[in-house]
Amino acid sequence: MSADFSAPNLSDIEIKALLAGIDRMESAFVIYDKNYRLIWANTTSHDAWPDLYGGLQAGLPQREAIHNEIVAQMPDLSGAVLKEAVDYAANAFQCSQPQDLSARGGRIFQTFHQPLGDVGIVAIGVDVTELKSNQHKLRKLVKENYALAYQDELTGLFNRRKFISEIEQLIADRADCETPFALGLLDLDGFKLVNDVYGHPVGDSLLIEVAERLKGVLGETVKLARLGGDEFGLILDDISSSETIRQVGADICASIAEPFGLGNDLISVSTSVGFATFPKAGIDRAILFKRADFAMYHAKQHGKGKAIAFSSEHEATIHRRALLELQIKEADFDAEVYPVFQPIFNSRKQIIVGVEALARWQNAVLGNVSPDEFIPAAEQSGQIARLTPVMLRKALAIAKDWPIPIFLTFNLSALEVTSADYAHQLLAIIENSGFTPDRVVFEITETAMIRDTETVAEVLSLLQRHGIRIALDDFGTGFSSLSMLSQMPLDYLKIDRSFLDGIEQKRAVSAVFKSICDLSRHLGITSIVEGVETEAQMLNAHVSGIDLMQGYLLGRPMPADQITEFIVQNNKSPSSLPAHPQKLGMVGG
Ligand code: C2E
Ligand code: CA
Ligand code: CA
Repeated sequence: MSADFSAPNLSDIEIKALLAGIDRMESAFVIYDKNYRLIWANTTSHDAWPDLYGGLQAGLPQREAIHNEIVAQMPDLSGAVLKEAVDYAANAFQCSQPQDLSARGGRIFQTFHQPLGDVGIVAIGVDVTELKSNQHKLRKLVKENYALAYQDELTGLFNRRKFISEIEQLIADRADCETPFALGLLDLDGFKLVNDVYGHPVGDSLLIEVAERLKGVLGETVKLARLGGDEFGLILDDISSSETIRQVGADICASIAEPFGLGNDLISVSTSVGFATFPKAGIDRAILFKRADFAMYHAKQHGKGKAIAFSSEHEATIHRRALLELQIKEADFDAEVYPVFQPIFNSRKQIIVGVEALARWQNAVLGNVSPDEFIPAAEQSGQIARLTPVMLRKALAIAKDWPIPIFLTFNLSALEVTSADYAHQLLAIIENSGFTPDRVVFEITETAMIRDTETVAEVLSLLQRHGIRIALDDFGTGFSSLSMLSQMPLDYLKIDRSFLDGIEQKRAVSAVFKSICDLSRHLGITSIVEGVETEAQMLNAHVSGIDLMQGYLLGRPMPADQITEFIVQNNKSPSSLPAHPQKLGMVGG
């Protein structure tokens, strides 16, 4: 600074007027002699630092006056910290650079000291309290905006947007060096149930706890996000081998499998983790996500609580699935799909009481495709609504010629019992077939019931009013609760064949099977046991009080031209059935 401070020739009056003006300023204004002895300080200065200027005016040494002012402002300071504060302020007195000094009433002044040659020193302090507070607010706002934009509100983890941008950044960074990293996706098995049973606040607490556990397993450096709902994502960097990924996945599953203590409840969930590795499984963000997702669903299907990394086998499955969906879309179902029929027995009376129609697909490109493969593909590609009417028409056309009035059971997919319009479409097909509706049983699964319980119950009731009966297929494998079961108008429960697995060897299995049978009896619904392959299994069904059964032991699914003959022959001479338990000297319960 090079202002000219040579004293102008002012009269006393002029000087007084000048000082009177300065005294009214909102800024602090102080004049010292060249040894920092106070000559004059305006009112603002006295108000801002009363002990300092009071002390200087009374002739206290500068350091002592500063000390007093600081003690008055911050009575909690003592020892080294107090000394440091006094040093800072004393230093600011010598400094021509702007310094922030705190004053009374929480105010802040930006001060600087300007030597005026031999005349002395003038100090000016501008009140920047509001400016500082605005800056503070602005910083807070920026921080909040950052949180909104990048953070998951509930768990404090990254949100989906931030997670995606992190991955894109990593992919861009690795474009040349190809150092691998793994994208992991996981969600909670059974989370929906927790929300339904315990309520959303408990569900939220569970998510927070899960986030904490994930942080515990992965450490603070691993990028972790909540992607929405109960879905989480993570990025594993510096992965030396696929073993590292497998181990981390296993650790995550083990940690989440430990019960959560929430309020007074102990809640158990599990998780399945899917990984996709850059660049092997993909060099594009969308593909990595798709493949990690695929690996996760694969993990779920192969027993929950697992971690699976995307592999070349999955690649093949995806290709197969894509091909399948393509062929399904283009398929001429009238020409390619046909039903086979599996008999359902009353094994006590040794007669066939019904027949289940099962779909078969013979495709020019793919050959014979199993329904376990093409039904899910047809469901997912929306083609099931085109397939079912064709199948139903064909099954009815065959069944109407059976010489004995047994029932025909027919499988519907979950989505097919959610619309009354669609139900009317099926009813029209039955009406036009010449087969009476009261001999038709529709089989639905538990998946159908949990989707939209109320609507499904209405649609099923509508079908029942037209004489159709309803069976719950694969009973015991789904998630339906007892209360849900009691809301559904069901005529039959088909007990899933998994309950018969190993029943000959293990007493415990047999006990589970028995209790499932008891349950269906208590619900007052007739049961059919599926998948009876051995006489021991048949015996178990009998001892558990169930007569209706179906399985390879009694008859495999067979083509239309064989089933008619099979029904006629069997029901004419029921002894063709495998020996009834009573004949074996066992008494059914
Ligand atoms: P599902 O409804 O549970 O049908 C029973 C399946 O178990 C049939 O397989 C049948 O062949 C098989 N099975 C019968 N007895 C035994 C046995 O003793 N042991 C063993 N291991 N298996 C036995 P399939 O025909 O391959 O059908 C598989 C699934 O595909 C069916 O399971 C059903 O969920 C679905 N499905 C079949 N046809 C249709 C259809 O027309 N529409 C719909 N929506 N789904 C269908
Ligand atoms: Ca079935
Ligand atoms: Ca079944």
